[in-house]
Amino acid sequence: MEKRIELIAQWIAEAKTVVIFTGAGLSTESGIPDFRSPGGVWDKYNPEDFYFDNFLASEISRWKYWQMATEMYEPMKKAQPNAAHNAIAELERMGRLDCVITQNIDNLHVRAGNSPEKVIELHGTAMSVSCLNCRQKFDRDRVQERLKEEMKVPYCDNCGGPLKPDTISFGQAMPVRETQEAYERSSACDLFIVIGSSLVVQPAASMPVTARRNGAKLVIINRDPTPCDDMADIVLHEQAGAVMTSLMHCVKKITDR
Ligand code: NAD
Repeated sequence: MEKRIELIAQWIAEAKTVVIFTGAGLSTESGIPDFRSPGGVWDKYNPEDFYFDNFLASEISRWKYWQMATEMYEPMKKAQPNAAHNAIAELERMGRLDCVITQNIDNLHVRAGNSPEKVIELHGTAMSVSCLNCRQKFDRDRVQERLKEEMKVPYCDNCGGPLKPDTISFGQAMPVRETQEAYERSSACDLFIVIGSSLVVQPAASMPVTARRNGAKLVIINRDPTPCDDMADIVLHEQAGAVMTSLMHCVKKITDR
C-alpha cells in the first residue's frame, strides 16, 4: 500500500486541479452510520420510506420519515470531524484542492475547516429544514425541539406547508446549481479522488466516470469494492482515516522539499 500512497501523493503535488468526492463511508469513523454497510441505515429502515413521493403522500408516511430523520440527525449533531475530514481540510490550506463534491449531509467538511465555497453538497444538508410550499428556511434544531414537544409532523408557521429537512430524498429533484457545478468540476479536473462511497447512487456515481472520460486520473479509497474500481488508476480497499493520514504525510514530504 505504501508505494501506491506515495504515487497518489506525487499526483496531488503535480495536479493542477484536485477534486475530492466523498460519501457516507468518510463519516463512519466519526460515528455516523453509512447506508449500505452491515449495521448501516438500510439494515434498520426500508429505503422506500425515504422516497419523496411517500413523504408527499400522507401524514402517516411524513411522520415515519421524521422519526427516521430524527434518529439519523442525532449522531450527526454529536459527531466530530475525523482524520480523513481533517486531511481534506489540510489539502485546501495547502492550496491543493479545487473542491469537495460530497454526498454527505452532515456538514463535517466545513466543521473540519474547508470553506463552504469549496464544498458542493450534492444531496443537500441535514442542518436546515424548508417548507415544501413557500420554501421558507428554518433552523433544524428549533424544528427538532418542536417535534419533541408536539410529537407530530411539523408544518410551516408561514403558510402551513409541510416542513422537510433540506436533504434530497430518492425521487426528489437534485439541486440544479450544485449538480451542474459538480459535473463541470469533474470534467475539468486532472485528479479525482473518491473516498468512502459505494458509487451506486446516481447521478453522483457518474461523476468519477465523467472525470475519467475527460482524462483525469481516478483514485478510489473505499473499504469495499465499487462498480468503478476497474476504471480507476489506483484502488485502495482500506479505512479512509488511516489512508488519508499517511497520504497527507507523503504530500507534505514532497511539497516541503
Ligand atoms: P453508502 O452507504 O452507499 O457506501 C458507503 C461506502 O463507504 C461503502 O462502500 C463502505 O465500504 C465504505 N466505507 C464505510 N466506512 C468506511 C471507512 N471508514 N473508510 C473507507 N470506506 C468506508 O454511501 P454513499 O456512497 O455515500 O451513498 C449513499 C447515500 O448516503 C448518499 O446519498 C448520502 O447522502 C447518504 N448518507 C449520508 C450520511 C452522512 O452524511 N454522513 C450518512 C448516511 C447516508
